[in-house]
Amino acid sequence: MQQLAYRSAAIKLADVASNRTTSLSPLQTCETLLDHISQGVCMFSADERVIVCNRQYAALYGLTMDEVSPGVTLAEIVALRRARGQYVGASAEDDRQGRSNPRALPAESIEVLSDGRSIAVRRCPMEGGGWVTTHEDITARCRNEERISHLATHDPLTNIANRHRFTRQLDDTLARVRNGESLALHWIDLDHFKAVNDSAGHAIGDEILKQVASRLKSTIRSTDLVARMGGDEFAILQTPAPNAAASEVLASRLVDVIDRPFWVGGRRFMVGASIGVATVADEAVSAASLMLKADLALYQAKRDGRHIYRFFDESLEQDARRRSQTKSDLARAIVQGELAVHYQPIVDLTTRRVGAFEALVRWNHPKRGSISPLDFIPTAEETGLIVPIGELVLRTACQDAMNWPAGQAVAVNLSAAQFVDGGPTDTIARVLAETGLSPSRLQLEITESVVIHDVGATLAIIHDLKKLGVQISMDDFGTGYSSLSCLSRIPFDKLKIDRSFVKGLPVDKGALAVLRTIARLGKSLGMHTVAEGVETAAQLQVAVEEGFGSVQGYFFSPPRPVSQILAQLDAIDAKARSTLQTISEEAFHARSNIVVD
Ligand code: C2E
Ligand code: CA
Ligand code: CA
Repeated sequence: MQQLAYRSAAIKLADVASNRTTSLSPLQTCETLLDHISQGVCMFSADERVIVCNRQYAALYGLTMDEVSPGVTLAEIVALRRARGQYVGASAEDDRQGRSNPRALPAESIEVLSDGRSIAVRRCPMEGGGWVTTHEDITARCRNEERISHLATHDPLTNIANRHRFTRQLDDTLARVRNGESLALHWIDLDHFKAVNDSAGHAIGDEILKQVASRLKSTIRSTDLVARMGGDEFAILQTPAPNAAASEVLASRLVDVIDRPFWVGGRRFMVGASIGVATVADEAVSAASLMLKADLALYQAKRDGRHIYRFFDESLEQDARRRSQTKSDLARAIVQGELAVHYQPIVDLTTRRVGAFEALVRWNHPKRGSISPLDFIPTAEETGLIVPIGELVLRTACQDAMNWPAGQAVAVNLSAAQFVDGGPTDTIARVLAETGLSPSRLQLEITESVVIHDVGATLAIIHDLKKLGVQISMDDFGTGYSSLSCLSRIPFDKLKIDRSFVKGLPVDKGALAVLRTIARLGKSLGMHTVAEGVETAAQLQVAVEEGFGSVQGYFFSPPRPVSQILAQLDAIDAKARSTLQTISEEAFHARSNIVVD
């Protein structure tokens, strides 16, 4: 409609302008009329001279009214505009062509001037060879459109590309793979972001995400694309990625840059990242399947200890299938009684006897045989089946402990997933009441992952549990990232140092230093310390020398079914007495020798 209006206005004006015999001063009439139009309008005769031009046109291009007065040629205007940096065409030829052959120039175009303004130009030929152009400054509209399109394709917090833009570009790049394009997809998940966000607050979390984005951005090349896929997930499309080595270099750099501390408001935060990488060099795959592959690789990176990258390979797909099989089998396993509880003795180094047994769940799968808890506990946690499994283990452990000598406690593992929905306190109280076990004989083992999830809520649950009269142990101590802050806030009764530190003893001096520090830490905090994974007499000796309260490990016994472990109880006690006696005698002699020397 608007276009039509311009056309008819221009043609009428042309009629008026060309009617030189009229007594109505047609030019003035035209000018007055044109000055009321918001766009710039300029009308040229067939010999390329201005017939009439309005103030808006002159103002738009920084010209005076004299410079666009009737009779001025198109070439003169173009020269003036070019001199003032207000002309984008190559020459007056452009406009001339537009007149002689209207199709040569588009009827409408947007011209961006050197000062950044965007001008919408519409051209309309007139009968007799002249033409009229309208010029409108649409800079503000363009900027708005740019802003809208930016918003649609960018993450507002970090200002990097969003998921939508990323998947679109991934699709486009995949479409070019057949033409020799190569790419790698790096799927990045921050390791401890949730814990930091929950404990330090969302404002700090947001700031860290921004810093992550900018670090990722400065690590990639200009041909790569980084996007925030949501929450604490980021992705990088590496193009080109000609070989695995090239992708490994990038992935390892990405892990390194996120592993460095983040500083916000003078505070230091460690976040870390796990990365899954999927590559495509020659075969065409869909974006969805590539993302799935990267996700499987990421899952593996998380399982392998985080702060690392993993590449997709076919075996991960098999693992995923097995996990999904595990999921469907696990529910049946609970009902069909395929889960059993085994017990491993924990020897008290002071009394030199078994002080407690740790309950460790076992799954006797009818087809797959014995499945390690390391393989099915994570699946149970993901599916929520850990809640009934946890209750089953707890009930069995409490019932079994009722048949043991009264001095022996039972330790039960609790996973983070059991701390949701108000936590396990009610269940534990109920099971204790039903089985009749004294709460003082129950120890609950939790890992740091329980605590860092939501420190405030966990602390409240732990206080409730302690009110019941049960003991709380920190399990796998030293493997998490917030060990010390965790310890200072939570009143643990026991501290179990992870077996990975015991493994290298007595040779590994670094492990020894950690062990020593933890023993002292436990002592100063009034916590009983337990060394896990003690397999040899030499390791036992170190645990004794460093002042640990208890040890657990294959040296005394692996986890065994309840009947077997009870049958061996006397033998284990006897072994504890004799080996600890030998160790202390050796220590005594060593001390005497020093005195003699
Ligand atoms: P954890 O709580 O650290 O349990 C100790 C693990 O170390 C057990 O593995 C045990 O068999 C193993 N172990 C004991 N002594 C030695 C040793 O001298 N050398 C070595 N190399 N390993 C030793 P298991 O039974 O396979 O359990 C693995 C993990 O599964 C447990 O680690 C625990 O985190 C989880 N888990 C087991 N049972 C349960 C359960 O009932 N509930 C929950 N939530 N988690 C459980
Ligand atoms: Ca444990
Ligand atoms: Ca442990």
